[in-house]
Amino acid sequence: MKMRRCESCETYTFKQSCAKCNRETINPNPPKYSPEDRYGKWRRMSMDEHGN
Ligand SMILES: [Zn+2]
Repeated sequence: MKMRRCESCETYTFKQSCAKCNRETINPNPPKYSPEDRYGKWRRMSMDEHGN
């Protein structure tokens, strides 16, 4: 089981939700490379270029 983190109070927990805030916790180490992410990055770069 992996450690998860609460974005609200930054408490680390194994649970799906934070015991303090009752908020959903996130995986602090998501996989870095995925086809979708690469597409998103390119789209963002393209948008920045056109924005200026
Ligand atoms: Zn919390």
